Amino acid sequence: MSDDEISRLRRAEYQQEIIDPDGDLFLHVGPASRQEYSTDEIEFHVTRFQVCSATLRRASPFFKSMLFGPWVHSKPSDPDATWVVDLPEDDDGAMEVILNILHGRFNKVPRCDSTREDVPEGFTPYPFDTDLLYDIVVAVDKYDLFHVVQPFLAKWVAYVSSQQVMDPVAQRLLLETAWILGDEAVFASEIKELALNSFLKGDESELVISAKHRKNWDGFRYYSIDNVEVKDEDLSIEDLVRRARTGMLQHVLDWHHQHVSSRLKGPRTCSDKCDALILGTLMQRETKAMSSSTAKSLWTKADDIPSHYTVRTFLKFLGRQIYYKFPRLDEEKHEKCGPEKYWNDQKSVMLEDLDVFKKLIFTKDMIEDMKEQRKKWFGSNPPELV
Ligand SMILES: [Zn+2]
Repeated sequence: MSDDEISRLRRAEYQQEIIDPDGDLFLHVGPASRQEYSTDEIEFHVTRFQVCSATLRRASPFFKSMLFGPWVHSKPSDPDATWVVDLPEDDDGAMEVILNILHGRFNKVPRCDSTREDVPEGFTPYPFDTDLLYDIVVAVDKYDLFHVVQPFLAKWVAYVSSQQVMDPVAQRLLLETAWILGDEAVFASEIKELALNSFLKGDESELVISAKHRKNWDGFRYYSIDNVEVKDEDLSIEDLVRRARTGMLQHVLDWHHQHVSSRLKGPRTCSDKCDALILGTLMQRETKAMSSSTAKSLWTKADDIPSHYTVRTFLKFLGRQIYYKFPRLDEEKHEKCGPEKYWNDQKSVMLEDLDVFKKLIFTKDMIEDMKEQRKKWFGSNPPELV
């Protein structure tokens, strides 16, 4: 099919959205680049937006040069001809949101204050989800419209990331969106979720995400976060998840070893007998929690941790081995001697304090890059993203 034919077809089948009834310009937007052409079945999903060219010109230097420069997209010289510009690369849902903002139609723009009901009635690109946010971010970046979406961005991101994302494509898009926006918190917490539930399989140490959590991990794990270049390394989601998994396992062992060391240094319990019993049991059971064939020394290392453990299962297993219902003496009398409180405190820090986790996965360069991204999107004084 020739380009002309495609162009004619695109113009023949569209959905009309009147953003400005007096608008002098028609944008034919879509299909989004993610939708592949198929020769058997052609679905274009083109939307024809009637808009005001001057509004677009004022909003972005990109539109100004596209519409008012000496290019093919400029206004036809024949006064009776309709001014049409094809934007086949863009997503119509995303453009609808952006064009509504540009034309001051804020009642048509999702605020995402708390629930889905905040999406305006009759909101065409419904639902407001990860895909749509990603498409908006890509279009804003392309047309240099950062200042236009600024008031909405933080809430959109918070809203989308609070939704349960089980589909791997959506999760990848959320990760990429967070990376592009420099949203450390969303980026880190998504990687954390994956890392907590991943383990290594077989001789090749293949990284597997526990099936309960992600069904189609294979579909996206090698995917690089490539919209932003990181100075020192090529980032793939898999690399980050591996790094995070190892980091967290080591972190668990470190806090446990610190605990044992502090008990070695001085009495912490009701009696010498109790001291000795607790210390001995902590060390004995740590080795038991490892695969006994690999743990050769008293102080085990992250390498000794069986590869089939996810961080979650390791926490559970080591915790059960060492800490729960311990010591098995008269529990009331020894309530303060046992290590449960320390264990539970450390565990919640690791699971809930994102700053601890960020230190495990972000390099200095990554932090710098994300900061630069935030500046681009939110100005010189970017807000703390939730
Ligand atoms: Zn005691």
